[in-house]
Amino acid sequence: MTDTEQTELRKFMRGLRKRNPYQSEFQQAVEEIATSVLPWYLKQDAYLKAEILERITEPDRVISFRVTWETDSGEIRANRAWRVQFNNSLGPYKGGLRFHPDVNESVLKFLGFEQIFKNSLTGLPMGGAKGGSNFNPKGKSEREVMRFCYSLMTELHRHIGEDTDVPAGDIGVGAREISFLFGQYMRLENRWSGVLTGKGLSFGGSAVRTEATGWGCVYFCEAMLKQHDQSLEGKSVAISGSGNVALYAAQKLIEKGAKPITLSDSKGLLYAKDGITEEQLETIRKLKEQERGRLADVKIKGTQYHASQNPWGVACDVAMPCATQNELDEEDAKTLIKNGVIAVCEGANMPTTAEAMKAFRENGVLHAPGKASNAGGVAVSGLEQSQNAMRISWSRDEVDDRLKKIMQDIHTRCVEEGEQSGRINYVNGANIAGFKKVATAMLAYGAI
Ligand code: NDP
Repeated sequence: MTDTEQTELRKFMRGLRKRNPYQSEFQQAVEEIATSVLPWYLKQDAYLKAEILERITEPDRVISFRVTWETDSGEIRANRAWRVQFNNSLGPYKGGLRFHPDVNESVLKFLGFEQIFKNSLTGLPMGGAKGGSNFNPKGKSEREVMRFCYSLMTELHRHIGEDTDVPAGDIGVGAREISFLFGQYMRLENRWSGVLTGKGLSFGGSAVRTEATGWGCVYFCEAMLKQHDQSLEGKSVAISGSGNVALYAAQKLIEKGAKPITLSDSKGLLYAKDGITEEQLETIRKLKEQERGRLADVKIKGTQYHASQNPWGVACDVAMPCATQNELDEEDAKTLIKNGVIAVCEGANMPTTAEAMKAFRENGVLHAPGKASNAGGVAVSGLEQSQNAMRISWSRDEVDDRLKKIMQDIHTRCVEEGEQSGRINYVNGANIAGFKKVATAMLAYGAI
């Protein structure tokens, strides 16, 4: 960045911090995008005059509401929930719902903001949004989760619709929660519509939606390595998380001949020196998805559980953070670099801190940002919307082929926009490609 660009960035971020105090995750996400796009943006008089950067960083609206529900023992509980409808320039708002005790407005604004550019990169007509609640589904009975979902949808249904805003799952919101939410939406509206994605296959869900984010992340990683004359074959991959994204990334990696050597959760790390096998992964998947167990409960020969550790101290060729935001910091990045990591491919949203990103960049580590590499989930959600609108369903192979093509196209866009002096900066590439399309639409709409 030139001195002028840095001065403009500081000025812009001062204003943004003042307008959004105490929202550190949102500020971090905006600063990353602004850093990438400013060198281009400052040369575009029409965009500057229309204050696109200021407008694009202000959500269209943030809806906040109380969710009251009853425990099994008859006690009344109240949680807070939000829907951040950030930008619908490219299509109806689209983005997941997160249920986790750490959810707050800053986290949802960062996720909704990222979602705008991710959805833009997919090439599908989708705007950006995110929602959720500080409700913790862990330790709750199925009936309690159901009552909470019903209560949340009793308010949310007023604000969403198949052509307005189409939520999906995220951390803490899987097939079970989407089913409860969808059932309550139908009851309230007295009609079936494709208002949520991630639905069950028997009621309008798409083939491959469950697997899409993890598989898409591996397809992107494969394209990135190929671009640099490498392949996944034989590579050891450290994965964090053991939820939807992590498990299906591991599945596809095994299929590609790579070795997933770790999984993790918020309590510890599961390590398999020789790589997790297909059979072992199936056992873990059943434990996590059907029995809602923890990694500490995994008792499989050839794997070790280490409490309170993350995967970044394990030597690997590729790191795939698939758990949560800011889970990989500067110290972790330095350890990975010392241990010879060649690529980082993000399954989670913003899992790498700004300092860790800098360390990877300065040490020539390939780094795919989540808004590009984890876009497979929302892409198949977009395909689910298309199938619902046409009242048809495509086969697994058809959806998978479309997913592969979308991930390859996203990779191509990152390369086109991110090439600098013979090297590819994937973070800049994704940010610039995603931003330009939305900014151009906003400019065309005039002063709305
Ligand atoms: P899940 O709820 O299925 O799994 C989340 C996993 O991350 C769990 O293993 C969880 O462990 C772990 N985790 C969560 N918070 C923390 C924490 N603070 N520290 C350590 N581990 C943590 O979520 P998903 O797999 O769906 O989502 C994972 C990430 O991928 C998120 O960043 C999400 O936004 C992103 N993503 C998801 C998409 C999807 O289609 N599902 C699409 C695009 C992005 P524990 O059980 O102990 O909490």
